[in-house]
Amino acid sequence: MARFRPILGIILAAIATFIVSCGGAAPKQPLTYTPEILQRVQIYAPAVNDLRDRFPELQNFIQEKDWVDVSSFIHGPLGEMRFQMNRLASTLLPKDADQAKQLAKEVYVHLERLDQAASEGNQVIVGQEYRNALDDFDAFLNLIPSNG
Ligand code: ZN
Repeated sequence: MARFRPILGIILAAIATFIVSCGGAAPKQPLTYTPEILQRVQIYAPAVNDLRDRFPELQNFIQEKDWVDVSSFIHGPLGEMRFQMNRLASTLLPKDADQAKQLAKEVYVHLERLDQAASEGNQVIVGQEYRNALDDFDAFLNLIPSNG
């Protein structure tokens, strides 16, 4: 056993050097999610996860061409979505926060287009924007550490 120790020491030193050199760009920012940061993420993550769970309701209205309920759903249950996503994004590490805020904006823009297309009864565009919104929402959720 003892003769492996020096090798392990060299490997650990190499890893430490690698970590230090990677961290050079932003020395004061934490590079990984600490328990304190994860705790803050967990304050806002459940509400955003709940919003994601409600998207199938919107899909039902779209399939039924129920444009009035599509519009009320976007402005009602999903009305605070961008605010809630941005609030959650702000708790992330800087490298993830910027991307998350961009995705929150994307989701919002897709839903605005969806709403516009619904008011014109254009089911094809509505369906496309629904999928685009969902893709961006799922990309956003993938950035949330507590969601794995
Ligand atoms: Zn998009």
